[in-house]
Amino acid sequence: MNPDYVTFSKNVFIPITNICKNKCHYCGFRRDPDSADAHLMTPDQVSVLLSKGASSRCTEALFTSGEPGELISGALAEISYSNFVEYVADLCRMAIAHGLLPHTNAGTLSCDELRMLKPLNASMGLMLETIASVAAHEDSPSKSPSARLKVIEDAGRLGIPFTTGILVGIGENREDRIKSLMAIRELHLRYGHTQEVIIQPFVPKPNTSMFNHKPPSTEEIQETIVLARRILPPEVAIQVPPNLMPPSLSVPYGASDLGGISAVTIDYINPDNEWPALETLKARTRLRERLPVYPRFILDEWYGAETEELMSKYADEDGFRKC
Ligand code: SF4
Repeated sequence: MNPDYVTFSKNVFIPITNICKNKCHYCGFRRDPDSADAHLMTPDQVSVLLSKGASSRCTEALFTSGEPGELISGALAEISYSNFVEYVADLCRMAIAHGLLPHTNAGTLSCDELRMLKPLNASMGLMLETIASVAAHEDSPSKSPSARLKVIEDAGRLGIPFTTGILVGIGENREDRIKSLMAIRELHLRYGHTQEVIIQPFVPKPNTSMFNHKPPSTEEIQETIVLARRILPPEVAIQVPPNLMPPSLSVPYGASDLGGISAVTIDYINPDNEWPALETLKARTRLRERLPVYPRFILDEWYGAETEELMSKYADEDGFRKC
């Protein structure tokens, strides 16, 4: 099942805030607002990362965040904002000015918030994680499957190229994984907007209540990739992050994308899992660099209107990255 090539994008990972109103039991990223290492990145801090990304030949600014709600009102006021999503929109504008294409994953955004961010993003994303009610999410109201499916559906209605995925090993079972993949498939068949589905293995993190929870085996992940490939239409890529599973173990089972590989920053969600060097990956896998929006959406001009100039600069005639 080896594809002709495996795709990836070159990104700079920008964790806007780690303050989050949810408390997912496996999450090592979130902080309470009064924690010593809680942060809301300032525009200057973001600008430094964007400059590094641009000078490292990245094309993607990956904006991620916890779901801070009102918890960051004070920190936002200090940088003269009153609304988090308006701040994210300005960071996207800053990324475009630096020559980088934004891809934002800022949690369960409302339809109006998605509409605000759409013109400023090449694509957007939100993990479904699982359609099951799992104990790991009992303190995380916005991890309700219906809330997340609504965001994915709203993105489809708005015509936003979208990345979603499932988190494997957080208390769900095989049937739940099938149901999660079927739900993603159903929305994609309705709106045609899913560019890729991430199969992300749960990794136990220190200082979390699931630190001693057994991670999924390699075989479980491989079986899930096979299931995903069977359930999802062929135009939807299967992504397995290479810092969580080597491509030699995922590509033969149906993975065809490695996701964003940051030349500049670590994976803040899995900080102990270093991205393999691009040169090492290239030596072992036939790679093809894409942009943060997949080629078919570029050819059909499905991307944020304000990213158009950069899209012409970076995309070749097939929708991949120009050399
Ligand atoms: S996984 Fe995301 S939503 Fe859950 S606690 Fe961590 S940052 Fe918040």
